[in-house]
Amino acid sequence: MCAAALLCSDVTLAGAAEEPSSNPVAASNFPIASDARLAGDAKQTRFVLDLDQRIAFRAFTLADPYRVIVDIPQVSFQLAAGTGNAGRGLIKAFRYGLVMPGGSRIVFDLTGPAKIAASYVWEAANGQPPRLVLELEEVDRTTFVQSLAPEGRPELRPAIADAAVTPVAAEAAVPPKPAAPPDPRPVVVIDPGHGGIDNGTQSSGESEKNLVLGFGLALRDRIEKSGKYRVVMTRTDDTFIPLADRVRIARNASAALFVSIHADALPRREGDAQGATIYTLSDKASDAEAERLAEAENKADAIGGVNLTEEPIEVADILIDLAQRETRTFSHRFARLLMGEMKNTVRMHKHPLKSAGFKVLKAPDVPSVLIELGYVSNKGDLEHLVSENWRSRTVGSMAQAIDAFFAKRLATAGAAN
Ligand SMILES: [Zn+2]
Repeated sequence: MCAAALLCSDVTLAGAAEEPSSNPVAASNFPIASDARLAGDAKQTRFVLDLDQRIAFRAFTLADPYRVIVDIPQVSFQLAAGTGNAGRGLIKAFRYGLVMPGGSRIVFDLTGPAKIAASYVWEAANGQPPRLVLELEEVDRTTFVQSLAPEGRPELRPAIADAAVTPVAAEAAVPPKPAAPPDPRPVVVIDPGHGGIDNGTQSSGESEKNLVLGFGLALRDRIEKSGKYRVVMTRTDDTFIPLADRVRIARNASAALFVSIHADALPRREGDAQGATIYTLSDKASDAEAERLAEAENKADAIGGVNLTEEPIEVADILIDLAQRETRTFSHRFARLLMGEMKNTVRMHKHPLKSAGFKVLKAPDVPSVLIELGYVSNKGDLEHLVSENWRSRTVGSMAQAIDAFFAKRLATAGAAN
């Protein structure tokens, strides 16, 4: 079952259990967080979140990079813009957002190892609203590592995967549906990058996570219309999805193609760059920019507060090796087809085909590419990225490349029989 559908064990208190299957976006009675502030110094730092009701929470630390994660039920964050950008004391910065339906998260980046000295939720009292309080204290690394709770240690997403609370019970009560006839169409997985707590790159008030979601949905609509493919989205709303889950979604769907959608940004001091770039997987980055980008994209899990354990892929090594070779051939073929189509309609980067070690491209058996649609840091590109017209043209050329890719694949498969 998709981990994203599970609720944190501690959140049931707050009412999430009452609506296990409702659309969390549609519901409006979530607790409201109205203010957040930091106090203290580099030895002891306190975080306070003002709420309109008490909520359950769970706080734990993660290493490398040092972080504190606070998992709470879905909360409507009504905080001033820029809240969390500036740190204080042990907290370098913090961010917050939805990590799954029904679950929000606050992730604190720390300046060094620290322990959670205390954490609690106060009732409203003395004219103060209910508050979530977190008190951090500086410790050395050894103490920090020892303090990692067994369940807080690098198991993937302990807070999310822990408790299959109500959704499972609810599902068990529903009689199984009669099996649908198998759908023979190839599965295309569209993967809008980032989401929820992870905004991706940002510029001029535009977030990568929103731009690429809009683009991904438009691409889905376009290629679904042909009826030739079954399209699976890794996300259709503003939810955080860990990188390994994106790969898992593709593998579980036996996808024939995985297309990850992103938009890049260049730090100001590194000048200006423009145009779309198509990336495939390689152990060694094709150039320094590709390496920088893969590193930035691979940080998504750390940003979302996921532990960084690599999960082994459960296939015999030799099979992986064989599958990978074939998969890479197909990935490159699709990348070239895509460039051939896109260059007619879309401004491309001066080196439009690149490769690097993107985690999200690592399914050994699913041809995968990652597209950086353009640079949100470039004025012209940003204008394109938010333009309905540009999006429609780009989606059109990508749909043609997908058609060409499968036309050739099916022909090859047919010839082999
Ligand atoms: Zn990205």
